[in-house]
Amino acid sequence: MDEQDFFGEGELVAVLTTQPLDRKLDYKAPEGGCFRGAFVEVPLGPRKVLGVVWAKGRGDFDYSKVRPVNRVLEVAPMRDEMRGFLERVSEYTLTPMHAMLRLATRAPGLSDPPSMRKIYRLGEGEPSRQTDARKRVVETLTEYGGLAFTLKELSDMAGVTSSVVKGLVKQGVVREEDTPRDVPFFRLDPEHAGKDLTADQAVGADALRAGVRSGKYGTTLLRGVTGSGKTEVYLEAVAECLRMGRQALVLLPEIALTAEFLTRVEARFGSKPAEWHSGVTMTERRRIWKMVGQGGAQVVIGARSALFLPYQNLGLIVVDEEHDTSYKQDDGVLYNARDMAVLRASICGARVVLASATPSLESWANAEAGKYEKLELTSRFGEAVLPEMKAIDMRVEDLPGSCWISPSLQRAVNTRLEKGEQSLLFINRRGYAPVTICRACGHQIGCDHCDARMVEHRFLKRLVCHQCGETKPMPEECPSCHVEGKLAPVGPGVERLAEEAETLWPEARLAVLSSDLFGSARALKEGINTIAEGGADIIIGTQLVAKGHNFPLLTLVGVIDADLGLQGSDLRAAERTFQLMRQVAGRAGRSEKKGQALLQTFQPEHPVIRAILSGDELGFWKTEADERRHAGVPPFGRMAGIILSSPDVQQVFDLGNALARSDGPMRAIGAQVFGPAPAPIARVRGRHRVRLLVKAEKSAPIQAALAQWVGQFKLKGDIRLSVDIDPQSF
Ligand code: ADP
Ligand code: ZN
Repeated sequence: MDEQDFFGEGELVAVLTTQPLDRKLDYKAPEGGCFRGAFVEVPLGPRKVLGVVWAKGRGDFDYSKVRPVNRVLEVAPMRDEMRGFLERVSEYTLTPMHAMLRLATRAPGLSDPPSMRKIYRLGEGEPSRQTDARKRVVETLTEYGGLAFTLKELSDMAGVTSSVVKGLVKQGVVREEDTPRDVPFFRLDPEHAGKDLTADQAVGADALRAGVRSGKYGTTLLRGVTGSGKTEVYLEAVAECLRMGRQALVLLPEIALTAEFLTRVEARFGSKPAEWHSGVTMTERRRIWKMVGQGGAQVVIGARSALFLPYQNLGLIVVDEEHDTSYKQDDGVLYNARDMAVLRASICGARVVLASATPSLESWANAEAGKYEKLELTSRFGEAVLPEMKAIDMRVEDLPGSCWISPSLQRAVNTRLEKGEQSLLFINRRGYAPVTICRACGHQIGCDHCDARMVEHRFLKRLVCHQCGETKPMPEECPSCHVEGKLAPVGPGVERLAEEAETLWPEARLAVLSSDLFGSARALKEGINTIAEGGADIIIGTQLVAKGHNFPLLTLVGVIDADLGLQGSDLRAAERTFQLMRQVAGRAGRSEKKGQALLQTFQPEHPVIRAILSGDELGFWKTEADERRHAGVPPFGRMAGIILSSPDVQQVFDLGNALARSDGPMRAIGAQVFGPAPAPIARVRGRHRVRLLVKAEKSAPIQAALAQWVGQFKLKGDIRLSVDIDPQSF
């Protein structure tokens, strides 16, 4: 930091706060001055709010009326690159800066002064009388070098009562110190337990290590079938990052995966890394936030919001399962974590590894265009081989109504049962049945607040709206014609499939894996472990099982409805189905036993189904890319969605039409505006949603034009507008 970055007492500073204001506020620097980037507490009306000293003040108010900053917080100031990152994300996603700051300070208690606690480390003294218990305490402290422990940690690890430790403190053998409560994480050791890599893997690891050593930005697309050792390979890049004294971030799409992953990282580096996601306690969040800022956390394993932690020296970002759609979700700020990871890395000179068995078309195209480096692992580790893929043509299967497991699939499961191997029946639908229909009048039960059908969940004994979460008991009579006892389930859900499997195989042990059947991430993890250890013969699961879990005994995957994702008009449907089917099939045969994947389909000649079966990935991407290029949509063109919502349907359409009529700023950059039309989900929680889609050339300055276009309108009443750059569906 140079002198320009310091503001002496009384100098004017512009402070960005987390309050929804459209400008930064001027304050006087406090006694002792403050640095640019300092986290401060400032008065705002009668309140005290959190802010960051962003720049020199504007001084367009009467100086004597400007209030001073209350105090500077005892946390590391926000670094230049972080301020730059927040500004760039704000520009890209058209998100106001106060919302960006909120995203970057999601650690409660940030403004509390540090509290103290006692820690224990090895002292100089000799014990007056040696006992086994005392010896164990000294040994534990010696073994971990200079590390300090809390009283509980130390007594637990040494297997003694806390009074033994206290006794040693009196004699000076153990030293007791006061330290801030937020303690650093244990050090991770890059040399702790490296694996012998296969030739294929070693080449990949070398390339990634060299990239990390360069200390410059660069992105590598690491492609490899499930089980090929992508994780092993990118952990070597993490090791290199540790050797260089830089921090590493690994993003995972699903919290349920982190526990298994943490164990793996611990096995590789000897200690647990920091873990950041919505399930982490508030105290722990504050600790991680501070330690990441001070360099006391070397590796963070986290969900997408971990991108906004205040890294001191970030050298590597891994985005695992980079194609996963959950990297883009609406939590106030609409951003795609994969894309923002690349942005963040390019600002701070870090490497990015995008890992996937089935990359997104975006990343595939970037690699083809030479923007990303390409690395490929072609074979599975050890004896494991890719499953054989086959279609079951449902048009010729002899199957009674309301049954979904075809005779061919049944035979395949029988064979596995005889051999003591596991089968997975996959259906991407939660609940019992997707539709509940009245057989007297044809009425389908829908949600009162959303444009969605209510899904019967027998397990919960209720109807559930998958849009808004609203539930209600199954009615006795039809809400429309009031005839009793005529409501019937239509179509299969995971629970109904389980019922069918139970009838077919009463002796078999069934396990149903669906997110809503587990109360917590821990329960889910236990369920998964039980299955992995052989505690089930047949697994019935939703999308949840497609992601990353390792089931060594699993040799058969039966996809109940391979056509499911191909309906609808979404241009990404083919890509999604291709990825999902390949991921699910990849669950089979991950150890030495050969696997098989059977896809039940009514359209075996559909090009996407054919591509899945033949495994012709390159051919699939090429065809898909041609279609998107032709249509001028991402990744070959730019798109943005404008979503308007209001409880009043007339109001949203009126504003939508007004926007469409005044699309001058968009036309000026050669963009086309489509709509307004009902959004993909036309009503959520009682709000009607209307969408306008914007399509432009890849090089068009779409953000500036959007800001100008939307900026012409003042939002009245209860109407909301949000901009979605690079929408997931189009
Ligand atoms: P991917 O991330 O590509 O799905 P993983 O890295 O999870 O693959 O590897 C699959 C399995 O094979 C894991 O259990 C992993 O520990 C094991 N494995 C992969 N490579 C090696 C290796 N070189 N030595 C030992 N085990 C390996
Ligand atoms: Zn609803």
